[in-house]
Amino acid sequence: MSIPGARRGLMLVLSSPSGAGKTTMSKRLLANDPQISLSVSATTRKARPGEIDGQDYHFVSNDQFDGLVATGQLLEWAHVFGNRYGTPRGPVETALTEGRDILFDIDWQGTQQLRQSQAGGDLVSIFLLPPSLEELEQRLKSRAADSDEVITQRMSRAADEISHWAEYDYILVNDDPGQCLHEIRSILTTERLRRERQRGLAGFVRDLLAGE
Ligand code: 5GP
Repeated sequence: MSIPGARRGLMLVLSSPSGAGKTTMSKRLLANDPQISLSVSATTRKARPGEIDGQDYHFVSNDQFDGLVATGQLLEWAHVFGNRYGTPRGPVETALTEGRDILFDIDWQGTQQLRQSQAGGDLVSIFLLPPSLEELEQRLKSRAADSDEVITQRMSRAADEISHWAEYDYILVNDDPGQCLHEIRSILTTERLRRERQRGLAGFVRDLLAGE
């Protein structure tokens, strides 16, 4: 048990090559844990069928994205598959101060930038590996969201993404989604209990010893 209301929030990053299950994991984690919410990225990519503006992404034009960068409104941003993606700064800073956690579905470039930012100490990073590249390709094809050309691009980028595994705090192989989710929840529970995140601890222990 942590001390209620006395915790600083953390930034939980989930990275993996496309198709390794990170979107499914994110959705399931968010659905059952009121203490964590998703960082909604801005992107210049077009919305896929079923994606909702403001919920899955903030879909913006190139000019709008330039504006966000120029005014320092992004905590990090990167080029991915010919589009730009970035994390809006405001909601993250508010959540951390209020003791709420934020989940990021971002790539290794964004994770590196967050680690080097002022908020680096708030970062907990998890990398999801697929059980095999065949399985990864199968998952991308069954998603039917992308053209063959995009799938080939995503497969060639997968090796690049995977090569950054050693920059992450935790590495999970997603061969059983239920088990993988359980492991992510365990990491989150443990990280929330770290001494440095429990800001009210000194006062709590003082009162405890004073018998109050
Ligand atoms: P997709 O187009 O499939 O939604 O996302 C493509 C890639 O961009 C994924 O690997 C995803 O994690 C990454 N991504 C999404 N949002 C951001 C962001 O705000 N910053 C960075 N650096 N990467 C992002």
